[in-house]
Amino acid sequence: MAMKIVVGGGVSGIVSAILLRKRYNNVCIIEKENELGGLYNSISCDLGVSFDHGSHFLRSTGIKELDEIILRGVTPRSWRVLGNLRGGSYYGSQLNKNSPFLDLRCLSRKIYYKGMAELINCTNMNVKYNNLEEQLIGTFGKLLTEQLFRPIISNKYYGCPLNELSVNSHKVLGLSKLLGFSAQATREIKKIPLYDEKLGFHSSSEGNSNLKNYYPIKGGIGNWIDLLKRQMINFNIKIITGANISQVKIEDNKINSILLNDRRQIDCDLVAWTIPTLAFLKAAGISTNSETEAIQSLYTSVYHFVFDKLLITDLHYIQCYQSEFKTFRVTLYPNFQRNGTNLFNLTAEVVSTSPPDLEVLSKIVISELVKIGIVPENLEPLYRFSDIILNGFPLPSIKLDKRNKDYLRQAKKSCDNIHFFGRGIGGYFTTNPILIDVYQRIKNL
Ligand SMILES: Cc1cc2nc3c(=O)[nH]c(=O)nc-3n(C[C@H](O)[C@H](O)[C@H](O)COP(=O)(O)OP(=O)(O)OC[C@H]3O[C@@H](n4cnc5c(N)ncnc54)[C@H](O)[C@@H]3O)c2cc1C
Repeated sequence: MAMKIVVGGGVSGIVSAILLRKRYNNVCIIEKENELGGLYNSISCDLGVSFDHGSHFLRSTGIKELDEIILRGVTPRSWRVLGNLRGGSYYGSQLNKNSPFLDLRCLSRKIYYKGMAELINCTNMNVKYNNLEEQLIGTFGKLLTEQLFRPIISNKYYGCPLNELSVNSHKVLGLSKLLGFSAQATREIKKIPLYDEKLGFHSSSEGNSNLKNYYPIKGGIGNWIDLLKRQMINFNIKIITGANISQVKIEDNKINSILLNDRRQIDCDLVAWTIPTLAFLKAAGISTNSETEAIQSLYTSVYHFVFDKLLITDLHYIQCYQSEFKTFRVTLYPNFQRNGTNLFNLTAEVVSTSPPDLEVLSKIVISELVKIGIVPENLEPLYRFSDIILNGFPLPSIKLDKRNKDYLRQAKKSCDNIHFFGRGIGGYFTTNPILIDVYQRIKNL
């Protein structure tokens, strides 16, 4: 009996497999690593605390059938229901403990007033921008683009000129909205949709949806993958791990089998492909039309620490926009997990354009944690571990975007019983938009 095959065992692959199984009988998922989960996985240390090695929270989507899948087994006994996350931001050498958005009031008075005036005067809506630079100037004005966005986005994170970056690529960095004016004035101004899109409320507790965030009381977000895996087992989904795709066989515009590197052949009549499209083209023996010039990529590294003193802030996470700092984001586990120990663990993420020197960066990150006001001065961690995350944050360049689209076009043309999902195909990077896309497209199969 031909299978419905899902390639890739990250969350998009797992959710695709469960959704397919609800509609068809024989479903199989293939993951090249020995464990499922992709960018959702956790590690624990000898001290008894865990760290996430990628994404951190499980968030409901508001779509009933999808939430029933992703929240199955997420019970109050073992999961903390967080509602809105308490995010903070660090910019202009100041920690804003109320909001994760960059606070413009840290700018010099002159730049702040002129920048806000320009922001208010940018009144064009529904403009089709060609690149991020055009979008930022059109949305926030020239001054803020130069003084604020360029140093952070171009210099600190992407190492790429703004006019070579894709539209909306600032949003992945948490820079979709800015803080300005007073809290009350912002509430009033945000009633106008144009300004609602670019100004954030002054407090994390304001203006959020009913969607909730969840985190395990013990362990890390990897527990979510365990729950999803159990669901797949209950549904009799065949799980193959530690296997790579070596060939995809296509006949009459249809994939009819997939060959694994251990020589197993799996016959199929439908495939959900959640890994990079290029891997499909290669496995199908299709030469790519796209130019082969190397495209710059980014390195994501994570720095896990355990301290024996209370973290100074009670925030769940902090976005660090300080352009000369290496730290991108810090996640403060005890503030949402209460792990039952007297240990204080956190993870800092760093995005860099060259391979990171983990030893050096680990020291820099600690000094930045002190400056941000997360840990006291002269505090040595009880434990530290750093690592590079393979296939972490993508560089959202126009070139990469175009190449991804070319690959996808070519792949879709080659057969009509394959569907491409997940971050591997480009487009979406954050989880819920990916899962909603998976859900809507599988529902319509
Ligand atoms: C540091 C970091 C922080 C993040 N924070 C957030 C956040 O705060 N909020 C948010 O929404 N998102 C966040 N994300 C993004 C989130 O992790 C992704 O949206 C999500 O994991 C995408 O799932 P996926 O299944 O599409 O891809 P992946 O998780 O990358 O899974 C792909 C899977 O396919 C497997 N695979 C690859 N090649 C093959 C092959 N040839 N054969 C078989 N299997 C293969 C991989 O091993 C992997 O398991 C973060 C990501 C990183 C790196």
